[in-house]
Amino acid sequence: MRAWRFVGPHHPLERQEIEQPHPGPGEVLIRVRAAGVCHSDLHILESPAPRATPLTLGHEGAGTIEEIGPGVSGVQPGQMVAVFGPNSCGDCRFCRRNEENLCPHGPSVGLRADGTYAEFVRCRARNAIPVPEGVTPAQAAVATDAVLTPYHALRGVARVQAGETVVVIGLGGLGMNGVEIARLLGAFVIAVDLQPEKLTYALAHGAHEVVDGRDPAAVQALAAREPDVVADFVGVEETLRTAQQIVRPGGRVQLVGLGSVSAPLLTYRYGAQQVSTLGSFWGTSEELRQVLALIAHGAIQPPVTTEPLDNVNDVLDRLRRGEVQGRIALIP
Ligand code: NAD
Ligand code: ZN
Repeated sequence: MRAWRFVGPHHPLERQEIEQPHPGPGEVLIRVRAAGVCHSDLHILESPAPRATPLTLGHEGAGTIEEIGPGVSGVQPGQMVAVFGPNSCGDCRFCRRNEENLCPHGPSVGLRADGTYAEFVRCRARNAIPVPEGVTPAQAAVATDAVLTPYHALRGVARVQAGETVVVIGLGGLGMNGVEIARLLGAFVIAVDLQPEKLTYALAHGAHEVVDGRDPAAVQALAAREPDVVADFVGVEETLRTAQQIVRPGGRVQLVGLGSVSAPLLTYRYGAQQVSTLGSFWGTSEELRQVLALIAHGAIQPPVTTEPLDNVNDVLDRLRRGEVQGRIALIP
């Protein structure tokens, strides 16, 4: 089968013909119908951290069950499923306390095990999540991370309450869905990005107000609005510093972006004003079921466009240049 694989840092993904995998006990093989392209792939490509190669990237995906392994019940060949990428085991202490996203047993699809930039992908059967009627493969694919991650971060971790003010920084694949989700949770939503087109889109899709991130005074002025939550979907030094500066006393900074390896802590805001910064990683399979249902009901409309799988390197270049609006899903 055809697969686009990571062969080492700073190399484009390489198209390889590899053997079609077969599902082992408790696993399924999925024919990929759509695979979302996440900014995290760029961090993988640009990080010097060692990683086993070659590795098929792609940690967002949806498709139809092609083959079921020994002992698998509950899913049928031909059924449309979304891939729960953490690929949790369901039986360790993380899984049992509802922290499936942190399960160390995966291996996670597209990060540690071969991913969705291929014709077929394999995962544990329990992580092939049925896709409700009316949800397209592209929507289901981006639901698995670009929607699931901000849903977990804002609802599960930051526990955004109706009536709170939420600032969303970074309106990319994740952040744009973060705007919709914060709105759905009943928040007053202020969206920030460096690109005017993204601000225009956010205003039409849930943001009550927008602020141009290229105007530092306008961004700092947000402190007067006393945001309860500032969600950083960029994660560079500048955005995390800003988030800590503008959040209200007692407020929560929700860090999701992975743009810098480290960033400053403004100690005064913690020790004198009880600000907290919360981490968040991906989401749980139950939350994935919830976001798929919300998409099926039209309550969340993830922005997604499609491209052929073989354009993956071009799509990654456009994502690096900030030219992607919403998410792109690759079709094999
Ligand atoms: P993306 O490239 O689609 O979007 C990034 C957005 O941030 C773009 O709209 C860009 O214009 C904007 N931006 C960049 N610098 C900015 C600044 N200084 N101020 C305001 N806006 C700025 O990326 P994505 O796929 O949405 O991913 C966002 C981040 O989240 C990445 O770092 C990614 O690795 C990370 N991520 C984290 C998790 C997690 O579980 N924590 C999961 C997936 C992705
Ligand atoms: Zn991702």
